[in-house]
Amino acid sequence: MNMPDKHGKFIEYGGKFAPEVLMPAIEELEKGFKRYVKDPGFRKELDYYLKEFAGRPTPLYYARNLTEKVGGAKIYLKREDLVHGGSHKLNNTLGQALLAKKMGKKRIIAETGAGQHGVATAMAASAAGIECEVYMGTEDIERQKLNVFRMDLMDAKIIPVESGSCTLKDAINEAMRDWLTNVETTYYLIGSIVGPHPYPLMVREFQKIIGEETRKQIIDKEGVLPDYIVACVGGGSNAIGISHEFLGDEVELVGVEAGGKGIESGEHGATLSAGTSGVLHGTYSKLLQDKYGQINISYSIAAGLDYPGVGPELSYLAEKGRLKVASVTDDEALEAFKLLSRVEGIVPALESAHAVYHAVEMAKELDEDKTIIVNLSGRGDKDVFVVAEALGVKL
Ligand SMILES: *Cc1c(COP(=O)(O)O)cnc(C)c1O
Repeated sequence: MNMPDKHGKFIEYGGKFAPEVLMPAIEELEKGFKRYVKDPGFRKELDYYLKEFAGRPTPLYYARNLTEKVGGAKIYLKREDLVHGGSHKLNNTLGQALLAKKMGKKRIIAETGAGQHGVATAMAASAAGIECEVYMGTEDIERQKLNVFRMDLMDAKIIPVESGSCTLKDAINEAMRDWLTNVETTYYLIGSIVGPHPYPLMVREFQKIIGEETRKQIIDKEGVLPDYIVACVGGGSNAIGISHEFLGDEVELVGVEAGGKGIESGEHGATLSAGTSGVLHGTYSKLLQDKYGQINISYSIAAGLDYPGVGPELSYLAEKGRLKVASVTDDEALEAFKLLSRVEGIVPALESAHAVYHAVEMAKELDEDKTIIVNLSGRGDKDVFVVAEALGVKL
């Protein structure tokens, strides 16, 4: 369903925009992925780790208290917050780490901004028994000490990046340079449905298990498919992960972006809502840029939504009208963060709180016989310091 063409394009979006010298590495990855994705031995090993290590399948939980409080459509939560490590990210890093091993690579590299992808990569690399090095800007290392220490505990080596703004985009450049130099031994593990083909397709294939489980679970509980599926969108991996299985059905799919301080303020991460087309990090998609093509700095209270690009498949689905796009501000996400914690006893990741807020707004307007499934992409333990500060609470 919804396969890109042989150039990795979803009609106009996607492709491989990388320097010529990187093409052999990308092609080797494409071959490796194609070969192993259908290999029963690989699938068996991945399924083993997804079940025994990651804790899948995750529950589809009927949020009874929230539904009763809001009044309107039934709200279900797909509990990716219960995946080992606290988010959906491990589904992808496990898949790629095991692929790296099959491809005979000795070393995994990754880059990370807030550290969440770095931690998920370190976990998967440890489980797969393969060496791991994570590029991180010195600015981010300073801001994310806890995640740096976590990676260190799991035996991942942090490589500080001191060029440019010393943040994620500089770390990405350095990781690319490393891959180029060490392609024989090294696997570059990307964390969302972004980057040059085959990454957007591959990450989707590793995340689509969320939707496959969800379909069985909702049919089991309600006897019919849901009316709506709502997920937050940073790069788009949890959104495509839960949505892919339903692309051919009469289910409305909704992606919720970071409205930050309001789209008019210019401080946001709402790429699909407010971006224009261009090339970023190897793919043609929507992005936040000025009229000269310079990338604008994105902003969100949720680190995972703070990215000026978005996956090409989502740009395509949004343009086609198959994916509805909304945005939720920092303040609204904080409100949903508090609400879900209070009424359900579930502290959501700030990213996921964006989806929760929008789902609640939708539910209010809908009849009680409608159902909405929210992808609860992660748990909020990582966010308590940021939330406390935003609420003026001193810890
Ligand atoms: C990283 C992250 C996201 C955003 O990434 P996607 O690729 O858009 O899914 C959302 N939620 C959580 C909890 C995350 O850690």
